[in-house]
Amino acid sequence: MNRSLNAVLIETATAAIVANAEVLTRLDQAIGDGDHGINMKRGFEALLAQASEFAGLAPAEALHKAGTTLVASVGGASGALYGSLLLGMAKAASEGRMFPEQMTLGVESVKKRGRSDVGAKTLLDVLVPVLNCVRANQPLAEIRRTADQAREATKDMQARRGRASFLGARSRGHYDPGATSSQILVHAVCDALETLE
Ligand code: ADP
Ligand code: MG
Repeated sequence: MNRSLNAVLIETATAAIVANAEVLTRLDQAIGDGDHGINMKRGFEALLAQASEFAGLAPAEALHKAGTTLVASVGGASGALYGSLLLGMAKAASEGRMFPEQMTLGVESVKKRGRSDVGAKTLLDVLVPVLNCVRANQPLAEIRRTADQAREATKDMQARRGRASFLGARSRGHYDPGATSSQILVHAVCDALETLE
């Protein structure tokens, strides 16, 4: 990750989260406590405020700094989970591993942290299929499509983890807030990569 990629990623992701904060909050009002949009907006605005400090950082350092910033500023379950994703990626990057391996370790960290996996109606329902696409070296268009379909599929699921699980079967019929923020972030990362191509 070079200097301009760090800045473009942070700016693009923050803009996407800010633009969708109300959508995320509404989804969390339906099956959670209504703070997911606020949490994510606070976290990404904190990241954007530090954007200049990312200049010249190597991928492992940038991922570690972004992860600790999100853990400290997002709050809620999602702060710890997105933080785990980036810190897991940072660890793999520090060992010299390439992006697919970084994301693999990041997603493994989310699973461990959340004691969760696919099918529980969480952000993992988007992250895992997207990871599979990345590992299969699929083009950005396919990665976006996969994120969209994966988020769509959370609507009919029953939540098995997080606050939404308290609703039991009544959690069905609503998109998962975290899966939706993951879909938004996957699109933002694809957009950022495209602007640099
Ligand atoms: P909180 O649930 O603490 O209010 P947020 O509203 O910010 O936190 O985030 C909720 C999202 O976090 C859920 O929509 C879900 O995607 C994700 N989530 C919650 N618990 C878990 C878990 N144990 N494993 C994976 N993801 C989870
Ligand atoms: Mg919440």
